[in-house]
Amino acid sequence: MQLIIAEKPDLGRAIADAILPRKSSKKGYIDGGDIIVTWAFGHLFKLKNPEDYDPALKQWSLSALPIFFEGWGIQPDQEKLEQLNLIRDFLKRADTVIHAGDPDDEGQLLIDEILDYFQYRGKVLRLSTNDLTAAVIQKAYKSMVDNSVMRSLGEAARARQIADFVVGINYSRFFTLKNNRTLSVGRVQTPTLGLVVARDALIDGHQKIVYYEGLIHTHIVPAFSSALRVKLKEGHPLLDEEGRVMDKKALESLLAGFRGRSVDVTVTKKLFDEAPPLPFNLTKLQTAVFQRFKYPPEQTLSITQSLREKHHLITYNRSTCQYLNDEQFAEVPAVVSAILANLRASIPELDTKRKSAAFDTKKVGESAHTGIIPTAVRKNLSELTEAEKNVYRLIAAQYLAQFMPPCKKETTKAAASLPDGISAAASSTRVVDKGYRAVLPHKDEAPDEEASLCNIPEGNYPNRPIEEVGILEKETKPPPRYHLASLGEDMTRISKYVTDPRIKQLLLAKDDGKEGENGSIGTPATRDAIVKKLIQREYIEVKGGKVYSTQLGRDFYNILPQEVKTADLTAEWWAMCEDIKAGKSSSQVLHQSVLESIRKLLESGYQGAPLAHGAPGKNGSGAEVLGACPLCGKPVHMGKFGGYCSGYKDAQHPCPFRFSETQYGKKLTATQLKNLLAGKKVLVRGLTSFRTKKKFDAFLQYAGKTSEKGYATLEKPDFENVPQKKQ
Ligand SMILES: [Zn+2]
Repeated sequence: MQLIIAEKPDLGRAIADAILPRKSSKKGYIDGGDIIVTWAFGHLFKLKNPEDYDPALKQWSLSALPIFFEGWGIQPDQEKLEQLNLIRDFLKRADTVIHAGDPDDEGQLLIDEILDYFQYRGKVLRLSTNDLTAAVIQKAYKSMVDNSVMRSLGEAARARQIADFVVGINYSRFFTLKNNRTLSVGRVQTPTLGLVVARDALIDGHQKIVYYEGLIHTHIVPAFSSALRVKLKEGHPLLDEEGRVMDKKALESLLAGFRGRSVDVTVTKKLFDEAPPLPFNLTKLQTAVFQRFKYPPEQTLSITQSLREKHHLITYNRSTCQYLNDEQFAEVPAVVSAILANLRASIPELDTKRKSAAFDTKKVGESAHTGIIPTAVRKNLSELTEAEKNVYRLIAAQYLAQFMPPCKKETTKAAASLPDGISAAASSTRVVDKGYRAVLPHKDEAPDEEASLCNIPEGNYPNRPIEEVGILEKETKPPPRYHLASLGEDMTRISKYVTDPRIKQLLLAKDDGKEGENGSIGTPATRDAIVKKLIQREYIEVKGGKVYSTQLGRDFYNILPQEVKTADLTAEWWAMCEDIKAGKSSSQVLHQSVLESIRKLLESGYQGAPLAHGAPGKNGSGAEVLGACPLCGKPVHMGKFGGYCSGYKDAQHPCPFRFSETQYGKKLTATQLKNLLAGKKVLVRGLTSFRTKKKFDAFLQYAGKTSEKGYATLEKPDFENVPQKKQ
């Protein structure tokens, strides 16, 4: 029996549709007789936790750092066990396995780890496809290679996965313990926080500069007065280094000299075509949806997930690529007519033979997916939610635009020379023929004050009198605050903020050939989750659609060492992973470098730093740590009513541990709770007896037990040897 294991259910179904003549769908697989098609749901395994190696590591302690294990193992993801068991049983019967993970290093690892875990020893072939189109799958099926030649890709992905995990646990534990509050560090998470912190600093520290521009007003043609902007020649004494005029008075007197003079004006025109924009990738779609409908990026992701998986109306939705391949061009007529039927529209100008720049198999290149476009599925759109309809229409319009004529535009320029090398000019652009813009609702461009220029015929207009002069007051502006979509976009091009030329070049090289990614951190599939983590941990917050760093986020970011603050790790690791893929290096090299920087940090003598105190966030971020939980080892946070285990929200094993702040009618301090949790005897004065209501002083001590509800219980109060209160 031949067993095909696809990365995801939709790829599995598409493979079955493309190659199985007869088939029947079963739970978790498709039965094609001699061929079984099944699938994973992303990674079916997780890396083992430190405590799976050594239960003592549940307790966070500095002496245990750095935490690292050679050949770090994996364990099944309990939530996906059913599918994993199904695959295990098929593997026992399979004589050939076809590995159909996505054609990137993560996809390679995803199926390889299943085969390794069950020690599959039979033949394995690699089916590499980036497409759900039948023709592409059939072609890939005919050109499979032996999986052994692809293995090093998966090794690189594993090396990076372990390195990420090691950075996360070691840095997070270190900074938490040193600062006595729960803090979290991540290779992608922390530089993303850095983007917001840096942007906020630019905005908050911005000092606006007012500068001036001169204008001359003249009638080029009798019908309209035109305003031309005065441009001083480079090196003019009125210009500062940035080419701006700051001295308003001096400019006024310069302009006054022009009033009443005549100038020769030349008007030129240029016609040009504006091609339709490329189909969306996920990030671009999230931005467009946010601008149009104000849905946050995460919502767009879940809408597209439903459009793809539930309604089958669009192609792979987490794509980074904006290009389409030749097979998709062959399907254009079917897709276009399905869209028109779904939208109940008819667009006579559509020409399905028109091949826009989006159809470029070379540019799809090695990216695992193509642009997000509609499929040939016909559907009554009333089955969709309003939000789904909106997003589908947007994706459809961007696709249909590919088959429309370009938008024709015309730019008119007016130029004049003034004495002393000074010039004046104005320009204006108008749409002559809408072309693709007829289907692509376009933001209306701001009304152009020089619109009347377009009405002036090309030619020379000598001796036009300067009737009036004027001054435009301008000011420098800080960059805009991030919103969630623009933060996501900047994650795709973090290299533009990198000053180290080597790191910048590595980041750009990493994304070479990946359209829409220009020196990025994270992947489109993970970026939203990372930003969400930053929000949950209260390092950033979203107010009125804008993203702000919190005081805690800024303070924490500022105390971190350079290597985790920036995209450096992403850049360096990429280079090392490339060597692993090429067989020139091993995962040990990467892991040694990670361990080295952790050791450097441990030996740095770092003693913690003042962080924003104040109320801990509602998710416990930044909360004061009282000690380790006696039940599960996680940090115990100081909350509103005393200590509580930070593991209380664990999906699988929520921890109930609590340490009540009030004992015998007396509110204890955080320091007292800390000492109690550490097992010390603590003298507390002014307790109240439950029975007699009388006040008393006593030593309290934690009994090491908890009540049924998880509350720490105390030993009986100890009245012996209570020192006399000084009078
Ligand atoms: Zn606990």
